[in-house]
Amino acid sequence: HATEAVWAGEKAYRVHGASQVPVVNSVAYNYDDLDHWYQVAIGEEDGHIYGRNTNPTVASFEDKIKQMEGAEAATSFSTGMAAISNTLHTFLRPGDRVVSIKDTYGGTNKIFTEFLPKLDIEIELCETGNHAAMENEIKKGCRLIHLETPTNPTVKITDIERIAELAREQDALLVVDNTFATPILQNPLSLGADLVIHSATKFLGGHADALGGVLCGRKDLVEQVFHYREINGATMDPNAAYLMIRGMKTLDLRVWKQTENAGRLAEYLSGHPAVAEVFYPGLEDHPNHEIAKKQMKGFGSMFSFSLHGGMDAVKEVLPRLEFANRAANLGAVETTVGPARTTSHVESTPEERAELGIAEGLIRYSAGIESFDDLKQDLENALQALNVSNAQS
Ligand code: PLP
Repeated sequence: HATEAVWAGEKAYRVHGASQVPVVNSVAYNYDDLDHWYQVAIGEEDGHIYGRNTNPTVASFEDKIKQMEGAEAATSFSTGMAAISNTLHTFLRPGDRVVSIKDTYGGTNKIFTEFLPKLDIEIELCETGNHAAMENEIKKGCRLIHLETPTNPTVKITDIERIAELAREQDALLVVDNTFATPILQNPLSLGADLVIHSATKFLGGHADALGGVLCGRKDLVEQVFHYREINGATMDPNAAYLMIRGMKTLDLRVWKQTENAGRLAEYLSGHPAVAEVFYPGLEDHPNHEIAKKQMKGFGSMFSFSLHGGMDAVKEVLPRLEFANRAANLGAVETTVGPARTTSHVESTPEERAELGIAEGLIRYSAGIESFDDLKQDLENALQALNVSNAQS
């Protein structure tokens, strides 16, 4: 997708011979011809009416990601959570049943455990990676299946193709959050998913300076979610759309460099005496390594690890890293680290985290595009602060 990342979705939106897509900071659009205005307003002719509905810069971003995911259509949102919640609210009705996994991103998990049950929607959250258990739940009947693979932060893997087959049989919609893999490493639609979601805030933008979300898939489905969003108003800002377009031009370069860094660092940490556990789908001892190998082109730039000595050790090590932002974000050009309890799963209670196997001292590491040698040395220096022989005893 390297060429699409640079070129897709741009030419139709350029003006005045400019080589870049403009930011159209206009809330509304002027029509001198009232009949034409009416025809555009009722959707009979192409054009833009009002910024909550559509905007040319936002449309260019949607066009680019649509082509990269191999989708018929795409629509965008103010954040990744808006993409997820708008999609769920579009398709679910009281009495419906949803099957998902326990390890979705903390915000998604809150929608499942706190908000949807209030609407009389039943949620079944399965052990992530236990395909047989998930299939049993799907066979009981469900309207929608929501997957995230790899998951945040323990990078667990679900076989998209396998679940898609059953989803089709059961006439259930399969939605996949592809934020961690990006369209460079995984295309859920080609594996049988109906809809794919990204928090564009992360890798698509890639520079930790703009929020956004996007949904790609079949036109008839995406149009329904677009309609919900244009009324409910979780619209992407044109300035954010511009930053997404600019960021995506280097998505292929960034993701491969980050993936290489993550793979080598995960391996290095696996052999470090201060490290208790490393979670990375590229490691051969990862429980679903083979599935990751089959459905992903690379294993991604996210991993997590824990230290002997738990949270106390984490408090010693993380502040010593020179080349890392300690921040609640991921997917940026800068390496970004943080304890899962403060970042992805801050919304969960300690009991809920324990239930998910997220130790209070689990560190989420989002590898940036820095040189591997510097990142490795940085970790080595920081880990030296621990008295490893004590910690191991
Ligand atoms: N999905 C995943 C996998 C995430 O990591 C996040 C992170 O925040 C989201 C969705 C939500 O995205 P946003 O923060 O843009 O709302």
